[in-house]
Amino acid sequence: MKHIAVIGAGTMGNGIAHTFAQSGFKVQLIDISDASLKKGLATISNNLDRMVSKEKISEADKKTTLDHISTFTSIEEGVKNADLVVEAATENIDLKLKIFKQLDEACSPETILASNTSSISITHIASVTSRPSQVIGMHFMNPVPIMKLVEIIRGYNTSDAVTNTIMELSKTLGKTPTEVNDYPGFVANRILMPMINESIETLYNGVAGVEEIDTVMKLGMAHPMGPLQLADFIGLDVCHSILQVMHDGFKNPKYAPCPLLVNMVRAQKLGVKSGEGFYDYSESRKAEKVAKQFAK
Ligand code: NAD
Repeated sequence: MKHIAVIGAGTMGNGIAHTFAQSGFKVQLIDISDASLKKGLATISNNLDRMVSKEKISEADKKTTLDHISTFTSIEEGVKNADLVVEAATENIDLKLKIFKQLDEACSPETILASNTSSISITHIASVTSRPSQVIGMHFMNPVPIMKLVEIIRGYNTSDAVTNTIMELSKTLGKTPTEVNDYPGFVANRILMPMINESIETLYNGVAGVEEIDTVMKLGMAHPMGPLQLADFIGLDVCHSILQVMHDGFKNPKYAPCPLLVNMVRAQKLGVKSGEGFYDYSESRKAEKVAKQFAK
């Protein structure tokens, strides 16, 4: 494997491109939005700067990594020569099915097609291609250059050979791949999302406040971040859609998103990305905090 195409230059796509490029692969980063490509490249450059300042890599390593990445706004152009495509576009089933149909037509027959989806069925995605044995889930964690885990999801038809290739490839990126089967939420979100949903339910029932719930889980369970703050970082819309996939997939009421989560998503309180979720991340709040610091 030499050439990797990454679809989507957002939060996950730019991290995936960074990680492959730093490990010596040639990366073709593709997004429909030119602005997203520019923002993605700027994020990679800033993250590399941070590594240089911490003396984890040299200036020359930074330059080589950036030189390994080229950008495209057309899938057909961007996937030429790709040995592997990692799709990290917006979490929407219709969009992913459309992209995989396009990839199947544009890529060479040997190319492996991977999705970074958090919850959508790999078997369903594979069913719109003529190569279901070469379709697999490669679920990286955020932030990709730092987090060690890659959850490798075998679709119903994914071959042993393709699974082994992707497991070995993940190791060459310095990651720890873990193989799981294709059921709603896979393993990571099947366990994480009910905990987040239960913490929202606990708040909704008035058992305790936001900070109290997060403090119990941080100090009592040694979690680096409380579940409500983590939900804000993931995005409340993303949490909601993953719970919905598990609720629909298992037909089990235990996965039903808490009414408070549903209401917050409807009100566009999506967490860090919208400026407010369980915590306030707005500019005015930041200004208030700075003012308080000066008042001390
Ligand atoms: P994001 O919204 O930050 O980025 C998505 C990008 O996809 C955008 O830049 C958008 O312009 C681009 N895009 C949309 N349609 C496209 C198309 N047809 N062709 C090319 N690009 C297109 O989203 P994200 O948080 O990076 O999530 C991407 C995927 O990774 C999703 O499937 C998500 O479930 C998964 N994921 C997210 C996280 C997380 O913490 N955010 C963690 C693990 C997995």
